[in-house]
Amino acid sequence: MYKRALAGYEKALGPDHTSTLNTVNNLGTLYADQGKLDEAKQMYLRSLVSFRRILRDEISPSKATIHGFATALCRSIRIDSVNDSIARSELLELSNHIKKWRQGNTAIVNWLAKALIGVKDDQNAQLAFRYSIRYPNDNNADFGGTLCDGCLYYITISTGRYVCRQCSDIDLCEICMSKHERNTLALARCRDHCFFSVDTTSLEINQPPTGKFEVDFDVWIENVGNQYS
Ligand SMILES: [Zn+2]
Ligand SMILES: [Zn+2]
Repeated sequence: MYKRALAGYEKALGPDHTSTLNTVNNLGTLYADQGKLDEAKQMYLRSLVSFRRILRDEISPSKATIHGFATALCRSIRIDSVNDSIARSELLELSNHIKKWRQGNTAIVNWLAKALIGVKDDQNAQLAFRYSIRYPNDNNADFGGTLCDGCLYYITISTGRYVCRQCSDIDLCEICMSKHERNTLALARCRDHCFFSVDTTSLEINQPPTGKFEVDFDVWIENVGNQYS
């Protein structure tokens, strides 16, 4: 399906359009789910090359471009192993990217959090998830529009959040997580996967924790960069 969509996008929009590149990314995820990691990596690299070129050439790239790039980079990091120097340099690239484009775009911090889980840096991942929380005017702070893959409702501070350590795209709320543990949720691909539990305990559901964060975001993202440089 993605292959056909990709051919269509390439023809209609060109190889470097965000929609084309996102389809390349999704095809990569499909390969990764099937265990075809080399093919997946190839797809991510292909879209990353184009995204890098667009980000270099455009003075104010669109939110979609920035987001697509962060997504592809995170998925690529998930494939590269813990000790791989490629994963480290990709993490450095992602943190630099976020430093530059984070304004009004918390969703990309979410991808950094997932990439950090991939390199087993749980402490920084925990902080990144906190920084990725979006506080709208109503009282339902969420994680940048992340949906639960079990019930398909938004994951908020009150629903709790569990993130698959193996799959780059699977999130569950607390209720669905307990169903999954009791094998009553049909999520076959994650049957033997471990999940990362996002700590939401000390967070207010309707108030950004200004001044309450352990570390200021700018200081923290700088530290993450230094750690992986
Ligand atoms: Zn759920
Ligand atoms: Zn999984």
